[in-house]
Amino acid sequence: MSRTHLKLAKVHRHYGEGDKMVHVLEAADLTVKGGELVAIVAPSGAGKSTLLHISGLLERPQAGEVEIVGVGTTGMSERGRTLLRRNTIGYVYQFHHLLPEFTAIENVSMPQLIAGRSQKEADERSRHLLEMLGVGKRGHHRPAELSGGEQQRVAIARAAANNPRVVLADEPTGNLDPATSDLVFDALSQLIREQGAAALIATHNHALAKRADRVVTIRNGLIEPIEL
Ligand code: ADP
Ligand code: MG
Repeated sequence: MSRTHLKLAKVHRHYGEGDKMVHVLEAADLTVKGGELVAIVAPSGAGKSTLLHISGLLERPQAGEVEIVGVGTTGMSERGRTLLRRNTIGYVYQFHHLLPEFTAIENVSMPQLIAGRSQKEADERSRHLLEMLGVGKRGHHRPAELSGGEQQRVAIARAAANNPRVVLADEPTGNLDPATSDLVFDALSQLIREQGAAALIATHNHALAKRADRVVTIRNGLIEPIEL
C-alpha cells in the first residue's frame, strides 16, 4: 500500500462575516495517496481553488487538520509551513506565472537552486523534465515566445522540479484548446505516476477528469466522490 501524502480532516473554511458569511468547506475530508491522481470537478464558485490553497498551505482553514506526508500543519509557524510547502508541494496555476525575463530552463531551475542544487544539476534536471513534457526544444525561450500549451508544460516542469510529494493543479488546462489540454494532462499524469506523487487537479473538462483515478466534487461544504 502506498502512503498517504495529502490528508484533509474536518476542514472548515468560510469567508466574510455575519449574514455575508460564505461557508465554502465544512468538515471536508480527503485523502490522496502517493501515485494517485484525483480530479475535482465542481461548478465555478464551489470552492476548488479554496481547497487547493488550503491543501497547498497557501491559506489556513478555520478548523480541521491538513497533513502533508503525515505531518500535521495546524500548529505550525508560517516559516514551518513555507519550508514544508517548498520541500513537498508543487503547484500549477491556471495561468502559468512563469518569470518573463527568464528562459524555460531558468524558470525550472530556479526552485532547484533555492533548494540547494548546483546550477549544473538543476539545469540537467530542467532539460530532462522539459524533454519529458515534450518541450525540450524550447528550453532557451522566454515565456512570451511560447504557446499557451508550451507555457503550461514549462509551469508543470517547474512544479515537478524538486520531486514534490504532492502536486496541486488549479484548472491547468483551463485556457487551452482541447488537443493541447490532452497533451498537458497526459504530461502531468505521466510525471505524477513516475514520481509517485499525490495529485489533486481541479478541472472543468470531464473527458480529462475521467482519466484520473478518482473524481470528487464539493457539495454542501463536503468533498464527495462522483461518477462522470
Ligand atoms: P472555485 O475555484 O470553485 O471557482 P473558489 O474557491 O474560488 O471557487 O471560491 C469559493 C467561494 O468562496 C466563492 O463564493 C468565492 O466568492 C468565495 N471566496 C473565495 N476566496 C474568497 C476571499 N478571499 N474572500 C471572500 N470570499 C472568497
Ligand atoms: Mg477556482
